[in-house]
Parts: sequence; C-alpha cells; structure tokens
Amino acid sequence: MSMQELPFEPDAPAPPRVEVIRSAKRRKTVQARLVDGVVQIHIPAWMSKTEEHETVERMVTRVLRQTEASEIDLEARASSLAAKHGLPLPVSIRWVTNQGTQWGSCTPVDGTIRISDRLVGYPQWVIDAVVVHELAHLVVRAHNAEFYELCNRYPLTERAKGFLIAKGWGDDV
Ligand SMILES: [Zn+2]
Repeated sequence: MSMQELPFEPDAPAPPRVEVIRSAKRRKTVQARLVDGVVQIHIPAWMSKTEEHETVERMVTRVLRQTEASEIDLEARASSLAAKHGLPLPVSIRWVTNQGTQWGSCTPVDGTIRISDRLVGYPQWVIDAVVVHELAHLVVRAHNAEFYELCNRYPLTERAKGFLIAKGWGDDV
C-alpha cells in the first residue's frame, strides 16, 4: 500500500488523497472508489510503476468526475430549462462516460437524453446550453433553422458553443 499525491493545476482545489492497493489476486481489473474523501485504487500486483501512475491519474479523474456529476441534478436543470424556454421534458436525462467527442445525445423516439460527464467541471451555463440543445432535439431531430431557433431561446447558446470549441470539442452533437 502506498500513498501518493498527484500534480494538479495550481488553481484547482486541493489534490485528492490517493491510496493504491496492490493485490496479487487481482489479475487485470482496476477498481477505484471514493472512501471518506480518499480515492482508493485497487490494482494488480504485477503493474509497473509507470502503469500504476497512468492508471492512478485516469482513475482519479474518473472518480472525481463521477462524484461531481452526482452533485449536479441534471433532471432539475432540464425541468427548469424546459419550463423557461418552452421545450419538452425528457423522459430521462443522465450523465454518461465515453461519449467520444459528443457533448450529448438524444433519442427522440423514447425521449431519453445523455450528457457526457466530460462536461462536469465546466460552467453551469455551458452545461445548460448542451441540455437545451438536446431538449431541442426532442422537437426537431435535424440541425436546421427551426432547430437553431429553439436552441437560441437559451441566450448563451452561441457563447457556449464557442467555449466548447475552444476546449477542443467539435460541434458534433
Ligand atoms: Zn445536435
């Protein structure tokens, strides 16, 4: 068992405490969870220090993102934005991991929306713009003039798009 501190951005909150537990029984799988503010990471005993370092960084990011995501009530955001901008309510809206370069996606037939958890940590107005974009897809599937008219009911839509593109996201939604 070893404790390590990760280098983080200077303006970021205090780095999390990380506890790495090597297990001889564990063959491949890596597991990470937050226990009393400590990110506990279980790794197989054979892992090299380099692999350990990469794994720890990846898992810490994932755990913190999931924790932060769980603190943002997407359903509440969607209800309030839908009411404010005259858009329909989704049947469900949830965070997802592994959306590639997509900010979000919408399945109009069943009314479900998924938002990439890579947006967690971005300003609320940016996340709101993505939510509005997906809500608008419940009405219009295509990216046409009618669709953009709905998106632009949320006044920060264009700014949010610029923000996301500047962060390296495509306008692929
Ligand atoms: Zn779209």
